Amino acid sequence: LEEPEIGRLEAARATLADVGGLDEVKQRLQSSFLAPMRNPGLSAQFGKSLRGGLLLWGPPGCGKTFIARALAGELGASFYEVGLSDVLDMFIGNSERNLHGIFEAARRNAPCVLFFDEVDALGLKRSQQRGGSAMRGVVNQLLTELDGASSQNDGVFVLAASNHPWDIDSALVRPGRFDRRVLVLPPDLAARAAILSYHLKGKPVDQVDVGKLAQRTDGFSGADLALVCEQATETAMSASMSSGTLQPITQRILTDASVQVRPSIGEW
Ligand code: ATP
Repeated sequence: LEEPEIGRLEAARATLADVGGLDEVKQRLQSSFLAPMRNPGLSAQFGKSLRGGLLLWGPPGCGKTFIARALAGELGASFYEVGLSDVLDMFIGNSERNLHGIFEAARRNAPCVLFFDEVDALGLKRSQQRGGSAMRGVVNQLLTELDGASSQNDGVFVLAASNHPWDIDSALVRPGRFDRRVLVLPPDLAARAAILSYHLKGKPVDQVDVGKLAQRTDGFSGADLALVCEQATETAMSASMSSGTLQPITQRILTDASVQVRPSIGEW
């Protein structure tokens, strides 16, 4: 078998503390996922397996990928993000081979968090499949890999994300597979403030009140807020360059940026 491209296999750095808001989600991940992983002896006594199988779902840009990365960081595991294009291939049998290669790479690199983005598109309900039987093979292969012999997947934590979990083939969400669902909602006021602080951390700012900005950004996703900070950074940087002195990011600059960025949540 050919070695798959593992260009996006990365060492994880972020931790759950870097995830803004989502306190309930973080608590749930701690108790149902991280704690068992950190107490393998106890888990064995209770017959709890140490393999992943977590489905993060919710509107786009609210931190599903970010959380998966942070989980890898917490576990000291490597992180492998898998998109549709890493798997799907028009030639018969190739998608299944790609999928197998990805799992093999994850097993070799264990501990590893294997993160499937847009899993609904891979494991679409039979009734909704246009390509018909072709995708059936991919779902079956995914099931085979997930179910793998018990020791084979040790240290491979499989997470998946979906904006439309109701479209996922029911075989994939059965016990032992992606059976734990975690809803990742748009950030509330406190979460928006936390996300803004995270994205401004270490940058030159002048009297910035993230609380006020959080109040103005109802309906913004984490990704939208990250974009607001990025645009404000660019504005302050170009002002610094043209004036020749450091111009910090101000509340005004951030407010202007927040007016330019369109909140994306409504489209979900
Ligand atoms: P999609 O469904 O579109 O894949 P997603 O839910 O996976 O979206 P992410 O890719 O995790 O969203 O978020 C996009 C970016 O937004 C992150 O890289 C991060 O910068 C920022 N972000 C989103 N949510 C948070 C959060 N809770 N805390 C900090 N940053 C966040």
